[in-house]
Amino acid sequence: MYLDVYIENSFLGNKTLTYQSGSHDVKAGMRVKVLMNNRELIGFVNQVYPPIPMDYEIAEIIEVLDDEPVINRELFELAEWMKDQTIAPMIRCLQTILPNKLRPKSNAKRIKTQRVVRRLHGDVQGLTLTQKQFLDQFRTDTTIPVKEAQKMYSGFRNLIDKGILALEDQEVIYESKPIVQQDAKYALTDAQSDILKRVHFNNAHTYLLHGVTGSGKTEIYLQLAHDVVSQGQQVLILVPEISLTPQMIDRVSTRFGEDVAIYHSALNDQEKYEQYMRVKRGDVNIVVGTRSAAFMPFQNLGLIVMDEEHDSSYKQENTPFYHTRDVAIHRSKYHKCPLVLGSASPALETYARALKGVYTLLELPERVNQTFPKVTVIDTRQALKNRASHLLTPTLLDGIYDRLQKKQQVMLLLNRRGYMTLLKDVNNEVIQCPNCDVSLNYHKDEASLKCHVCGYAAHHNTNTKGNQNIVGSGVGTQRLEEHLQALFPQARIGRMDADSTRQKNAHEKILNSFMNHETDILVGTQMIAKGLDIENVTLVGIINADTALAHTDYRAVELSFEMLLQASGRAGRGQYPGEVMIQTANPEHYAIQTAIHQKYKHFFKFEMNYRQIANYPPYRYLISIIFSDEDADKAFAAANGFVPFIEDPQIQQIGPVMLRRLNRRHRSRIILKGKDLDVMIAKTHQALELYKKINRTGVSVDVNPLTLE
Ligand code: ADP
Repeated sequence: MYLDVYIENSFLGNKTLTYQSGSHDVKAGMRVKVLMNNRELIGFVNQVYPPIPMDYEIAEIIEVLDDEPVINRELFELAEWMKDQTIAPMIRCLQTILPNKLRPKSNAKRIKTQRVVRRLHGDVQGLTLTQKQFLDQFRTDTTIPVKEAQKMYSGFRNLIDKGILALEDQEVIYESKPIVQQDAKYALTDAQSDILKRVHFNNAHTYLLHGVTGSGKTEIYLQLAHDVVSQGQQVLILVPEISLTPQMIDRVSTRFGEDVAIYHSALNDQEKYEQYMRVKRGDVNIVVGTRSAAFMPFQNLGLIVMDEEHDSSYKQENTPFYHTRDVAIHRSKYHKCPLVLGSASPALETYARALKGVYTLLELPERVNQTFPKVTVIDTRQALKNRASHLLTPTLLDGIYDRLQKKQQVMLLLNRRGYMTLLKDVNNEVIQCPNCDVSLNYHKDEASLKCHVCGYAAHHNTNTKGNQNIVGSGVGTQRLEEHLQALFPQARIGRMDADSTRQKNAHEKILNSFMNHETDILVGTQMIAKGLDIENVTLVGIINADTALAHTDYRAVELSFEMLLQASGRAGRGQYPGEVMIQTANPEHYAIQTAIHQKYKHFFKFEMNYRQIANYPPYRYLISIIFSDEDADKAFAAANGFVPFIEDPQIQQIGPVMLRRLNRRHRSRIILKGKDLDVMIAKTHQALELYKKINRTGVSVDVNPLTLE
């Protein structure tokens, strides 16, 4: 047979190569090992068909990696759709959709197997009582892992010689844990029940549930999920990476009395594979997971929930640059099931679509317990005038002191990790990463200078004041922690940022010790702004609300608003009233003013106005096309050479401009703007196809980029 195969080679784009199967038994959807330009590569079989006359010789594949196709029809079509929509090579889409162990990729690891003994139908006459008793164990299960068999009857190998048992390798299968159901369903408020009634099952439609933090959105998700599961259908609950806390997992699993499937980036490849297979076999009804859970192999999906739908972690920041919301909408159409997007601060484009009636808008304007924390905005310019610290202003310090006295807890948010964020050498030059055009950060705990983009690290010993050849400034979470410890020597301080959570389960440990009040103050980056629901936290301090507002990116203000709104919804869930203190040099900024008063609609109007004036999304669509090369001139020439290929009256081109060098690569970007995304996508596909024939510079395309930094 002949096979059309997608191969892991970026220059092939969406082309397949033809091989012949030889004596191998191959079906479409299986992975094969093939030779291409004398290299062994992994491919994915797209089509199998009888040989047709060709004027060149067709090579035979080397090996078939699977017994069964690794993907079903729905997910294969999803990959094809993603390839078209995100303008990415098909092989990259297949790799993204499949869990690592099933990926058509050279470094995909083998599935873990264990040695088991299988009961054959051999003659049991003449066996000893012990042997018969041992064989009785096989009644329900036809196989037993060798390790267990050894413990049950150490002489079991005799039975292999007699042909009654046989040894084989079997995939390790996840064993569900028993979970006690605690049906703590609340009697819904009127507002909640109205919403529940408005969501129709067995129908592909998108709803936006817009409700302030603590308004009872999660309760609605759970009750909807309950109805769907009782009809024998499956449910997918998508959450941002950071919200998938043990508390959340507990809340869902005890409600359903089921060991729900959990899928997120901290699982290792084997764990992911086992969770994936549970869903594929239909062993589990509910999946709670982050971005990649959107690709689970459901048979009969009845509901998709996407909590905190505005969260940036839903967008993948490398090829294919897909957004989980688009994948969720696509799957809801395929499975004819509702998709509920939930948020206190929906993405502008989502809210705009809901206002237009594309999505159904469902609103929960009130908190269940009716109270919002008190919000105080602290003008850091005032502190500077009074020669006080603008890092920890007197008002914030008094607040922290007061809570510590009362044995209550405090969260402090600072959006910079590391110790010092800007370093200069003897010549007063900023010390930059050798691979990227960004300044290095000093990490005191590891005594190193680090690049937060490419991970470059160099050992360096310095101190707060700097040593002879380096002077540092800027405060990161490590320095804040140290500073606080000096001011409050008795306080127990925890820190949560990308550095302190690098190890497996570290995130969970830091949170648990804060939940159990083993720490008094938790310092952290935006990681701590979301998803935490701790009764004893009565003060949340935002150290510097301006860092994000000062960014030049088109979504910077939206992101700051989201963060402030989320943080303002955190404190004050328990019996004590909560307070939020926001330090800023821009107290009158509309993002701050609307966030502290929980006025999403006002913010929406303001921000949409700016977007309209500047022709930014949601008024226009954007496609970003970046050409990169180690040689700056080549990168720029590539982008420049591409421009004529896009000429189209419906598409505005901006650039090319040179961007910061990252990971040793110089980058040149063109931005396309237009009103009709389909036209823009079609044109870009066509242009790339033609352009790749004359220029081989690396190119990456981001349709609907969330950042233009
Ligand atoms: P959100 O997801 O909007 O932040 P939650 O669903 O987590 O809100 O609800 C906020 C709090 O109110 C939670 O502690 C939850 O247990 C409680 N809650 C939700 N719905 C009800 C209800 N109908 N009656 C009483 N308490 C409720």
